[in-house]
Amino acid sequence: MTKPQHHEIVVIGAGISGATIANELLERGKAVCIIDAAASPATACSSHAYAIAHPHIGKGSPRLLRLTRIAFLLAEARWKNVWQQHGIFQPTKKDKVFDRAQTMEYLHSLDLDVDMAMAMDAKEAQRVCGIEQSGVWLPRGAGLNLNEASKQLLKHHDRLTSVWNTRITRLEKSVNTWHLFDAQNQMIASADKVVIACAMAAKSLMISIDIRLPLRPVRGQLSIFSVQEGDPWAKRLPSVGISGDGYCLPATRFEDGSYQWIVGSSFDEGEDDLAPRDESDDFNREQARGLIAYEDGDLCSLVKVGEFVGVRCVAGDRLPIIGALAQRPGIFLATALGSRGILWSALAAKLITAQLLEDDFALLARFGFAADLVAALAPARFFAGALATPSALGALASNSKPILPVESKAK
Ligand SMILES: Cc1cc2nc3c(=O)[nH]c(=O)nc-3n(C[C@H](O)[C@H](O)[C@H](O)COP(=O)(O)OP(=O)(O)OC[C@H]3O[C@@H](n4cnc5c(N)ncnc54)[C@H](O)[C@@H]3O)c2cc1C
Repeated sequence: MTKPQHHEIVVIGAGISGATIANELLERGKAVCIIDAAASPATACSSHAYAIAHPHIGKGSPRLLRLTRIAFLLAEARWKNVWQQHGIFQPTKKDKVFDRAQTMEYLHSLDLDVDMAMAMDAKEAQRVCGIEQSGVWLPRGAGLNLNEASKQLLKHHDRLTSVWNTRITRLEKSVNTWHLFDAQNQMIASADKVVIACAMAAKSLMISIDIRLPLRPVRGQLSIFSVQEGDPWAKRLPSVGISGDGYCLPATRFEDGSYQWIVGSSFDEGEDDLAPRDESDDFNREQARGLIAYEDGDLCSLVKVGEFVGVRCVAGDRLPIIGALAQRPGIFLATALGSRGILWSALAAKLITAQLLEDDFALLARFGFAADLVAALAPARFFAGALATPSALGALASNSKPILPVESKAK
């Protein structure tokens, strides 16, 4: 048996979250060891090849609006070479009255210029994106294959050590070093700093150091439908993405005249079963009808030819958990990416790297990333000084202050 190696930085989890953070650290000149339970990157939720990204524009959650705008800009810049920019249309909700001027004003108040978001009545939307519904056109909205992006980020690098087929089940601290153990209680590695990017498994890992995270699984199924040439659906299929109650990608036409159309997704709270379900496909057929406002469309025309099933990891307040764990120095969290893996992983890479290297908040500050947003994502937001169990770590647990950027460097 080889002696466990010591690393300055270990990242646990090689999905889009861990891969993006590891890559950012490599680009900043650090050496990184990434450990994953699977045999290769992106085998879990990030095996998703059909993810989309756009800034959130809904009303009522000002921090989410600001965060998704910043994260979108970071994601777009990070993945520009593999960014499938097809634009995304967000139809007006069925129970809302569309007012173009009011919507334009609202978008402007969110700092979203017309190159980012445009209010359109049904006629304009029909002309620009082929969808006869009023709503908001997000021309820079895009798709990303999370699986390929993760693999690309973790391709061979001199300073990258990859450890596969290794599940970390427990952490332990001695002096300033973290020790990582597997289920056989064998020490796998030690590190000065550990980034926990293993989605739901962050929950049990954190329990091993007396930290309780409010994480829940949410199963989701995306359906890949085929539509025959000449079917009434065919001439209504969108050439852009649509995001509303559910989402879809632009339909793809094959040489034989048939179409492939990817529509999703179910949102099964508290479930983590990966087996495909017929009822999820039926749900997606209904969503498909709603997305393109085709109430009379015959659902039998959407023939299921494939699916993607994944389990999202979601925090109690629906925001991701990203940042240094103030209660356990040396531990950094990047989990609970929910349904926004593209946006939050791009943001996590910048934020975790800045905190881990204790420098350079300038870039984030330039994007408008203020202290209140850092605090909104920080793991500390759940603790308010009260960690679950009194223990030998109790003294540390009382420190629930969020980690904020150093003022002078944030300018
Ligand atoms: C149906 C559906 C649709 C979605 N649509 C979108 C979308 O349109 N846009 C978007 O941005 N996002 C979307 N998402 C969300 C996105 O897929 C996730 O947010 C993202 O993949 C999560 O990445 P992750 O790296 O946090 O987790 P994961 O990809 O799950 O990676 C976790 C990694 O940790 C490893 N691991 C787990 N436990 C351990 C352990 N103990 N030790 C070592 N390694 C471990 C696993 O093997 C895995 O590789 C969707 C998700 C679903 C389910």
